[in-house]
Amino acid sequence: MRIKYSKKILSLPPYLFIELDKKKRQLEQKGVDIISLGVGDPDLPTPKHIVEVMKKAVEDPKNHRYPFGKGIKEFCDAVANWYKKRFNVELDPETEIHSLIGSKEGIAHLPLAFVDEGDYVLVPEPGYPVYQSSVIFAGGEIFYMSLKEENKFLVDFDSIPKEVLNKTKLMFLNYPNNPTTQVATKEFFEKVVDIAKRYNIIVVHDCAYSEIYFEEPPISFLEVEGAKDVGIEFHSLSKTYNMTGWRIGFVCGNKDIIAGLSKVKDNFDSGVFTAIQEAAVAALEGPQDCVEEMRKIYKERRDVLIDGLKKLGLEVFFPKATFYVWCKIPKNETSISFAEKLLSVGVVCTPGVGMGKSGEGYVRFALTVDKKRIEEAVERMKKVL
Ligand SMILES: *Cc1c(COP(=O)(O)O)cnc(C)c1O
Repeated sequence: MRIKYSKKILSLPPYLFIELDKKKRQLEQKGVDIISLGVGDPDLPTPKHIVEVMKKAVEDPKNHRYPFGKGIKEFCDAVANWYKKRFNVELDPETEIHSLIGSKEGIAHLPLAFVDEGDYVLVPEPGYPVYQSSVIFAGGEIFYMSLKEENKFLVDFDSIPKEVLNKTKLMFLNYPNNPTTQVATKEFFEKVVDIAKRYNIIVVHDCAYSEIYFEEPPISFLEVEGAKDVGIEFHSLSKTYNMTGWRIGFVCGNKDIIAGLSKVKDNFDSGVFTAIQEAAVAALEGPQDCVEEMRKIYKERRDVLIDGLKKLGLEVFFPKATFYVWCKIPKNETSISFAEKLLSVGVVCTPGVGMGKSGEGYVRFALTVDKKRIEEAVERMKKVL
C-alpha cells in the first residue's frame, strides 16, 4: 500500500531540536566528543525532595487510575498559592488553572479550540517551533511577528497590517524569550492588552522561563491590568525544577479560554499522572533554595560563556533571563555555516535561522553543560574562528 500523509503533516518543517539531537547522536556514535549547547534541556537533576515524594506516590494505588480533568485539588491550589506569592495575582483554582502534560502539550492543542480556516494567528519569530506547528495542525494562517534587535526583540505591533489584525484570533508571546533572552516590560504587556481588546485577540503568553533569571524576577503577563480578560499564561515545571522528563506544566488565566483548551484535552488525553501532580505540589510548595542554587549555576555558566565569546570577538545580547545566550555571528557567515563550523570541533549550537528567518545572523547557545565544558567549548571555537 502507498502511505499518503496529510497536507498538514507534509507542510510541517522538520522539528529542529529532534534533527539537532539526531545529528549529535550520529557524531557520538562515531566516537566524537560532543559539547551540546543545542537543545535547552537542563543537565541538573530534579531536586531530591521532589523525587522522594514521587517514589511514595507511585506506590499508592489511588494514583494508578485515570487522572482526568484539570488536575487534583492540591495541584491547582499549589499553583494558585505560588502565583499569589510570586506575582501577586489571584487565580481561582476551580476555573482559572489547568494542569498540562508539559506546557508544550497545552500550547500545541490550544489553537484547535479557537482557530477556524482563514483565521490568523500571530507567531513570534525567531521562536519556539511549537507555536507554528500548532497553527498548521489547526488549519489556521500564520502571521510571523519578527523579533528584531532594533526593537529590543519586542514585538513591533505597528508593523502588523490592520487587515491581518482584523482576522486574527490568537497571538503567541514568549517572555523571557527563547531564543533572544529578552524580558518584557510592564509597558509592553499593557500595549498587548490594548491591542487584544481593540481587535478581539486572545493572548497566549508562554512564561516557561519566568524563574530562570539573573537580576530582577521577570513579570507575569497576568500582572497587567485587564490581562485576564484577554489572555492566558503557560508555565512549566520543566525548567524551574529540572523536570523536563516528567511532563508537567500548567496554564492559567481567563476561564473561558481555559475551558476551550480543556474541551480539546478531554478528547485527546486523560490528564497528568496523579503521582506526578503530587510531586509537582512538592516542587511548588517545598523549599525554593534549589531554584536559587540553579540560578547561581546558570549565572556562572553565562558569565564564562559570555566572556569567552567576547574574547573571540563575537557580539552577544546580554541575557537577563533564560539559560540561553543569543550570539551574533561574523558577517561573512550564515547561521548554518557557523553552526557547522562549530560542529566540526564537536560544539553543538542552534542556528538562529532554524527558529525563524529573523534568527539569521545569530546562533543560540544553551547553558546546559557545566562550566568546565563551556570553557572547553570556547577553547575549541578558538581553533575555527
Ligand atoms: C522548554 C519550553 C517549553 C516547554 O516546556 P515543557 O517541558 O513542555 O513544559 C515551552 N516554551 C518554551 C519557550 C520552551 O523553551
